[in-house]
Amino acid sequence: MNDAIRPQPGILDIALYEGGKSHVAGIANALKLSSNENPFGPSDKVKEAFQRSVHTLHRYPNTDHAALRAAIGEVHHLDPARIICGVGSDEIITFLCQAYAGPKDEVVFTEHGFLMYRISAMAVGATPVEVAERERTADVDTILAACNGRTRLVFIANPNNPTGTMISAAEMARLADGLPPKAILVLDGAYAEYVEGYDGGAALVDARSNVVMTRTFSKIYGLGGLRIGWGYGPKAIIDVLNRIRGPFNLSSTALEAAEAAVRDQDHLVRCRNENNRMRTWLAQALAELGVPSDTSMANFILARFASAEEAEACDAFLQEQGLIVRRVAGYKLPHCLRITVGDESGCRRVAHAVAQFKGVK
Ligand SMILES: *Cc1c(COP(=O)(O)O)cnc(C)c1O
Repeated sequence: MNDAIRPQPGILDIALYEGGKSHVAGIANALKLSSNENPFGPSDKVKEAFQRSVHTLHRYPNTDHAALRAAIGEVHHLDPARIICGVGSDEIITFLCQAYAGPKDEVVFTEHGFLMYRISAMAVGATPVEVAERERTADVDTILAACNGRTRLVFIANPNNPTGTMISAAEMARLADGLPPKAILVLDGAYAEYVEGYDGGAALVDARSNVVMTRTFSKIYGLGGLRIGWGYGPKAIIDVLNRIRGPFNLSSTALEAAEAAVRDQDHLVRCRNENNRMRTWLAQALAELGVPSDTSMANFILARFASAEEAEACDAFLQEQGLIVRRVAGYKLPHCLRITVGDESGCRRVAHAVAQFKGVK
């Protein structure tokens, strides 16, 4: 034991992030509905790009990600010079904290917000500030009331995980406008593609100098295993983030697959349509069994039970049936289970199992 060797203050206070479970002891081929993955996976064009990349694996990837940024820019009508690509949007969140927050600074997020905001803030020695939500929905006035001269970053996912709820573009603009001068508003658009016609906040980024948007290939694009995401913001902020980005942070395989993915919007639309159809079906089926949920805008449902005990018991029962969903006690929702919208047969299995759990035939 060497007492002289110690991590930076605050690091040992970080609670380890636990990913969604992927196995149940004793059950082969359990259906994983715990990490909001796309049940259809990436498109065939993405798989072809992935396979092609095998021929250049001895080469370093390019450092500027120009081809992928150009593709994202074309598809979303954004300036590629203001796009940065990272190892998942998690890495963009990390860069923002590293570049803009440190000891004595505050990083604000909401009660049921994504756990990585807290972890990334604490990793740089900043103070995490958690703000209450109203009925599992972010509340702009409460967030603004928590901001002060020490606030450097305000993270908000829209739609939010694990609640699935969203706030309007007008509310988001009001939040951006009300922030103290040194604070950046970070709009996490991990689920933006599930909301037809929603730009993830890109227009707000363009209209303000204090807003950054993050996006990911892990959710609707079905590439969680590859680890790739991106951010869009004011040129000055993107330039700062690029200074701390490792030059080879993304593999050539990830870059080529992501480019093929963003260019295949037909696949995205098919996945969104199917997700939204089955999400409505599943939410209604569960509601009829006495398990309500807020209207979700994403690819999961936050199912509410009568108590934490009931949620836990249902989780255990679902596991026995080979269905893995997500407990969200760590998100201050101990009476809820987050259930990823799977394909049709997956959703039917969930509804059937919850019915059995509830004792309905
Ligand atoms: C899944 C998710 C992400 C994506 O993380 P990646 O690092 O891009 O895989 C970001 N934010 C939220 C709220 C998420 O749920």
